Amino acid sequence: MLESADGVGASWRGHYDRLRLHTTRGLSGLPGRPIPKRMGQWVARDDFVSYLEDCADSLDVRMRLGVRVQRIDRAGDGWRLTTNQGPVEADRVVVATGYNHTPWLPDWPGKDGFTAELTHSSAYRNPSPYRGRQVLVVGSGNSGAEIAADLAEGGAAKVWISIRTPPNIVRRDNPGGIAPQHLGIVMRPLPAAIVDPLSLFVQRLFVGDLTRYGIPSPTKGVATRVKEEQIPLIDVGFLDQLKAGRITVVPGLDSFEGPEVICGGQRLKPDAVIAATGYSHGLEALVGHLGVLDAGGRPSRYAPASHPNAPGLFFIGYSNPISGNLREIARDARRLGRVFAKP
Ligand SMILES: Cc1cc2nc3c(=O)[nH]c(=O)nc-3n(C[C@H](O)[C@H](O)[C@H](O)COP(=O)(O)OP(=O)(O)OC[C@H]3O[C@@H](n4cnc5c(N)ncnc54)[C@H](O)[C@@H]3O)c2cc1C
Repeated sequence: MLESADGVGASWRGHYDRLRLHTTRGLSGLPGRPIPKRMGQWVARDDFVSYLEDCADSLDVRMRLGVRVQRIDRAGDGWRLTTNQGPVEADRVVVATGYNHTPWLPDWPGKDGFTAELTHSSAYRNPSPYRGRQVLVVGSGNSGAEIAADLAEGGAAKVWISIRTPPNIVRRDNPGGIAPQHLGIVMRPLPAAIVDPLSLFVQRLFVGDLTRYGIPSPTKGVATRVKEEQIPLIDVGFLDQLKAGRITVVPGLDSFEGPEVICGGQRLKPDAVIAATGYSHGLEALVGHLGVLDAGGRPSRYAPASHPNAPGLFFIGYSNPISGNLREIARDARRLGRVFAKP
């Protein structure tokens, strides 16, 4: 196993302090390695990192830390990897560099001339640097909504959230006690014609109408949005802060002008902007020349299948379905293990 960081769980170590998994403990472990019960239903970031460390210690896997793979090329019947530590050859290669690999910022007009602070959500840790300051969070995905709640709870003077498309929202802790992931598992195989209206109905029932807080009801259901690579917002405090008036919704961000930010005709002058605008897979440099990516930079085949252009090259972790990415990764890993076990 080649890992560019100096320890396992590098992506998780980099996430914000209050993060807990949105997927349940029972459906977030590696194959055959249940996450210990003492870590609770919603596993905290540091617990998840220590779980991954325990797995790495107990598995018979040779890990090479600090090795960054820069490019993968065909070499005879196998593969040659160019790395910062020299070439590595392998018969088969599994690429698992992460769905959330490279922080992505839109090319907003005027961005480079913005005179206040602009950071990506991947650099956000906790609200302390923002205490007493006016902050604009851009994007209402899970990171944006949770960071906005964290800022509002943690003493920011003003928190705006810029929302372009009304999000599909589910409560993590709902009165029925059903985890959103369980709903996602049930809904995943169903057609959009059923899932979309059902998800809008569930939102009306458990979240209610947020129009008076600046968020109209979504027009698209969960299945359609997932196809657009937008998974639902799982509420872990955002709605409380919104309803208490500690988060103000503004329209989508259009441009920057010096110290100002223009959101649908509104001019704001925040001290800081946190762009929770997502990530790209960052696979182009690694495998872009092999013809295995689609126009959006996603692998066109997921493990256990490999692309006909690239037999023996597999991709795991790039689908992010409503049933939970970690669950899907564990399932695909099992399937791939069975393929590898065949003589
Ligand atoms: C804030 C946040 C919260 C999330 N919460 C959940 C959740 O609750 N449940 C869930 O199912 N999913 C969640 N996800 C999605 C999550 O990213 C994945 O489920 C999970 O991390 C995927 O594991 P992975 O091993 O594929 O990728 P990662 O955990 O990102 O691991 C990829 C590894 O590859 C290494 N790497 C990258 N490029 C190279 C290279 N070129 N050479 C060598 N090593 C490299 C990285 O250092 C990293 O260690 C969340 C994502 C974010 C951003």
